[in-house]
Amino acid sequence: CGQCSAHCPVGAIYEKDETQTFMQMIASDKHVAVQMAPAVRVAIGEMFGLEPGTVTTGKIYSALRRLGVDAVFDTNFGADLTIMEEGTELVDRVTNGGLLPQITSCCPAWTDYMEKYYADMIPHFSTAKSPMMMQGAITKTYYADKKGLAPKDIMSVAIMPCTAKKYEISRDDNMQASGVNDVDLVLTTRELGRLIKSAGIDFVNLEDEKADSPIGAYAGAGTIFGVTGGVMEAAVRTAHLLVTGKEIEDVNITAVRGAENVKVGEVQLGDATLKVAVAHGMANVRDIMNEVRAAKEAGNPPPYHFIEVMACKGGCIAGGGQPYGTDDDVRARRTAGLYSDDEKSTVRCSHQNPEIVQIYKDYLGEPCSHKAHDLLHTKYQERPLYTK
Ligand code: SF4
Repeated sequence: CGQCSAHCPVGAIYEKDETQTFMQMIASDKHVAVQMAPAVRVAIGEMFGLEPGTVTTGKIYSALRRLGVDAVFDTNFGADLTIMEEGTELVDRVTNGGLLPQITSCCPAWTDYMEKYYADMIPHFSTAKSPMMMQGAITKTYYADKKGLAPKDIMSVAIMPCTAKKYEISRDDNMQASGVNDVDLVLTTRELGRLIKSAGIDFVNLEDEKADSPIGAYAGAGTIFGVTGGVMEAAVRTAHLLVTGKEIEDVNITAVRGAENVKVGEVQLGDATLKVAVAHGMANVRDIMNEVRAAKEAGNPPPYHFIEVMACKGGCIAGGGQPYGTDDDVRARRTAGLYSDDEKSTVRCSHQNPEIVQIYKDYLGEPCSHKAHDLLHTKYQERPLYTK
């Protein structure tokens, strides 16, 4: 991860800086549409003297507009979309005898590791793309249609807490669902912070602004994607409705919260019991995968129905593209920031996000529809450990 460049004792590893590419896009005649990941909003303030965990969503939207972008969207919308697709896939597997456990696939460092070290587990992986890639695909299709723009005339940029995301945008042909690159450029939180500073923008005193419509609104479920356990919690909120036909009474799924390396629990979806596991930090992931593999080889039932994996300790709040100086205290404060963003949201579940309801009504049809599969799902392949 990008922390290598921060910790390299001889300075031999350099971070790939693409801020100039971004400014060239701004100066071009292309329509520049930017999305921002959940974890960015609770960390970038540290580069401007704010406390870790300070939620600066509206200031980031505002700063992006001052840098000259044409449309400001939020990867949290993409996270809500991921839940609609991944939650539907999970419920289908559970209720129709599909292969279990289902394993999350929104962390590109994890999917890359899995394709190299656990290729036998590929059928367990959710085919849902990551929130960033879903957001990119609908930016260049649904949004492009609404604006009357060709996909090639949009530059789709993602602000991410993660250096692995720079690789994800070109990992295979599925990342070009629109016919061209769905995401053209990834900047890290640090790169955006440097751009804001070099433009002389007074970040701390910016007025809060709102994201653009129709792919900018988000539910609290989308924002907690940035912390370990958040994808699981968001999925359970929607899976409850899909399985029981009723809204979940308490949206706070505390069994999957916390900083323990591996969290194991059971969640009730009406009469059905969902066995879940959450792992973060690659060393902890191995234990869970080996447990699943051993059960399979012994012909035993799967130990879990749903597993969430994030490569970084604490999840994306501590990703390799975040401001330097991440320790457990900083992790805890950024985590608290995302949970407070969720609690303050008037809509807490992805399926209640009005813009999510609209995109299915106007464009995608049903979750996991043919069109949704074309745009929002991917596939995995065994990859060699080393390539020349
Ligand atoms: Fe990137 Fe880390 Fe988040 Fe995975 S957990 S998507 S590597 S920041």
